[in-house]
Amino acid sequence: MELRDGGHRVQGKGVAKAVENVNGEIRKALLERDPFNQKEIDTVMIDLDGTDNKARLGANALLAVSMANARAAAQSVSLPLYRYLGGIDLSLPLGFYNVINGGQHADSGIDTQEFMIAPVGGKSFRDGFEMIVQTYHTLKKSLKKQGLTTAVGDEGGFAPQLGTTEKALETLVQAIEAAVYRPGEDIAIALDPASSEFYKDGHYHFEGKTMTSEEMVAYYEKITKDFPIISIEDGMAEHDWDGFKLLTQRIGKRVQLVGDDIFVTNPKIFKEGIDRGIGNAILIKLNQIGTVSEAVEAIQLARRHNYGTMVSHRSGETGDTFIADFVVAMAAGQIKTGATARSERIEKYNQLMRIEEALGKGTPLFRF
Ligand code: PGA
Ligand code: ZN
Repeated sequence: MELRDGGHRVQGKGVAKAVENVNGEIRKALLERDPFNQKEIDTVMIDLDGTDNKARLGANALLAVSMANARAAAQSVSLPLYRYLGGIDLSLPLGFYNVINGGQHADSGIDTQEFMIAPVGGKSFRDGFEMIVQTYHTLKKSLKKQGLTTAVGDEGGFAPQLGTTEKALETLVQAIEAAVYRPGEDIAIALDPASSEFYKDGHYHFEGKTMTSEEMVAYYEKITKDFPIISIEDGMAEHDWDGFKLLTQRIGKRVQLVGDDIFVTNPKIFKEGIDRGIGNAILIKLNQIGTVSEAVEAIQLARRHNYGTMVSHRSGETGDTFIADFVVAMAAGQIKTGATARSERIEKYNQLMRIEEALGKGTPLFRF
C-alpha cells in the first residue's frame, strides 16, 4: 500500500507524508542498527508500521529505505550491489522485451497488455539484446509500411491499432523472420494479458467476445499451438483461482505460467497458490511487497517449489537500476523491463551489459 498525500496538490499523488515518515519515525528506529543485517532492518520497519499491508508508514517509504540500506551497505565495503547481494552465485538473466503494448498501457485496441520477445538463442546477454534491437526496429519499419502508428506505449513497445491479439502475434512473427531470426528457436514470444483488467462478473470480456474461464483456457491452448509462445503471465484473473488452476493443468507442462496480480510478490499468498497448483512461475516486483527481504523470501520460496522467477519493472518506472543488479544477484533467471526504447527501460539493460562485462566470460546465462 503506497502512502499518497491525497488532497489537491499534484492530483493527490504527493508523497510528502511518506518522506516525513522516512526522515522521522523510520530514521529514529533504524539509527545505530547494523546495515549488514538487511533482514533485521526490514523487520524493524515492518513491525514499526504495524499493519498487514504497510499502509501506515507506506510501502513506498519502507521500500525506499530498504533498497537504500542495501546500496549503502554495499558501498561501504566497496562492492557492486549485485556482488554484495549475491556473493558468488550470480547469473545473467534472459530478457523479456515488451515490444507491442496494449491493454491499460496503450490505446491500441488490443486487450493483451504486453507482447514480449525473448532472445532464447542469444549467446550472451549483450548478444540477445542486439537481436532484440534488430527485431524491434524491423517491426517499426513494417508497421510504418502498413501505415500504422509507431508512437510507443508506457513500456516502450509500439501501440499499433492491430485490432486483435492474433493479428499482433502474426505481425510479431513476421518481424522476427524479417530480422532474419527463427521464431521459437532464436527469438520466442511471451504474453502478459493482465487479464484481471478484462475479467468482470465471472467472465472474460476479451476483444469483443464474452468468455467463460474454460473458453479462455481453450483460447490460450490454441494460440500457444499456433505461435511460438513460451510464457504467459496473468492468463487468468487474480480472483479466478480455479480458472488459473485449469490453465495450469492444461498447458502448464509446455508453457511457463507466471503469476503477477494473483501472487503480488507476497510469500503468504504465493504459498497458498503453490499449494493449490496455480501457475509454475512468479513475477517479482519489489514495490508490490515493499521490502528487499520479503522479495528475496518470495524468490527462495519459488526455488524450493520449482517455480520460475521473473524480476519485473513497472509501467510507471524510474531510472533506478536496482532490479538489474537484483536479478543477477538472485540468479533469478528472467527479467522483463520493457522494449529497447525509453531511457527508464534502457538504463536496466545497460546496467546488465555492464555487469556482464565486469563478470567476464564463464558467467552463467539463464537458458529457458
Ligand atoms: P504495471 O504493469 O506496472 O502497470 O502493473 C506491469 C505488469 O502487469 O506486469
Ligand atoms: Zn503483469
